Amino acid sequence: MKYIQYGKTGMKVSRFGLGCMRFPSDKKEAIEMVRYAIDNGVNYLDTAFIYKDSETITGKALKDGYRNKAYLATKSPIWNINRHEDFEKYLDEELVRLGTDHIDVYLLHNMNHGHWEKVKNFDGLTFLDKMVKKGKIVHKAFSIHNTLKAFKEIVDTYDWEMAQIQLNILDEFQQVGVEGLKYAANKGIATVIMEPLRGGYLLNTAPKEVHDLINQYPEKRSLVEWCFRWLYNMPEVSIILSGTSSLQQLKDNLKIFEYATPNVMSEDDLNLIKTIREAYEAKKSIGCTGCRYCVPCPRGVTIPEIFKLYNSQQLMKSHVIDKVVYKSNFVPAGSGADQCVSCGICTGHCPQTLQIPELLQKVHAELME
Ligand code: SF4
Ligand code: SF4
Repeated sequence: MKYIQYGKTGMKVSRFGLGCMRFPSDKKEAIEMVRYAIDNGVNYLDTAFIYKDSETITGKALKDGYRNKAYLATKSPIWNINRHEDFEKYLDEELVRLGTDHIDVYLLHNMNHGHWEKVKNFDGLTFLDKMVKKGKIVHKAFSIHNTLKAFKEIVDTYDWEMAQIQLNILDEFQQVGVEGLKYAANKGIATVIMEPLRGGYLLNTAPKEVHDLINQYPEKRSLVEWCFRWLYNMPEVSIILSGTSSLQQLKDNLKIFEYATPNVMSEDDLNLIKTIREAYEAKKSIGCTGCRYCVPCPRGVTIPEIFKLYNSQQLMKSHVIDKVVYKSNFVPAGSGADQCVSCGICTGHCPQTLQIPELLQKVHAELME
């Protein structure tokens, strides 16, 4: 494992951070996975109040002396905050779930427009200062899927110690992008990368052209490795989170991070990434990351699953299986896109700013063909 300074905090962190969002359903395996990561040099765990039972499982994994071996990051559920006092109420609940008396890095979760307004209205920044004084949190941070402009405004508003952003080979110029990454790093703010593989979408929907490019390149690496390598090549990146969902996946990822040193890529390597990006972009499908912020839909529409199916179908157009699955499972079960009444609730939650109702209409028409 390779390590790097975590902004101006003085912490030295592993460049691989374990994202605890996609734990395996078997809790024993999840605990084993967390401990395996720590035993193999990972010293940074990222969870959140809203990741189902992730905090409770992480708390169990950190018993038996593991808590002292890793930095723990978790997030305030801004969705649930309706007054200033709620911030501390939820933090206290998280401390209980995690079985600890302090959080090393505490994030205000998903600073979209509405959440940032809430933070301002309910004085969320004063809350962070107060919690540092009380010793309940150590470092103050936020996560974001938003525009570069909004990101810079938030960065400039407060003495943040870490910013967690979405970045991957397809997002160099999207959301906060590489420009935002450098903006934060230049101010001494640690940066943590989420969605390095866009929730697996980058791998599952890689067109044939991408595989051809990789196979023809003289340096032999897998697509996963190129994706991580592009990120850890940047010295401004502190940690790359990977939300592995099995022990085997974790082991495979850890092998890649044995070489996670900044500035390892040549000009040719960087050009390869550029052509890979162009190959994806030529396929134009829906950029859903599967984060699930948009569900539950009051009408029962299974939005992420439908988009995933559609993307898969788009990449293999002659393959009918996705259409069959949609027609025979989603629609009869009442979870198809035809149930959408365009109320717009989901759109406000989507970090990718997808126009979900319009997309659902289009997807439904195409999958029903
Ligand atoms: S817009 Fe459609 S999919 Fe979104 S929450 Fe409303 S009914 Fe559900
Ligand atoms: S539609 Fe948006 S909010 Fe819903 S899973 Fe996809 S990216 Fe996430």
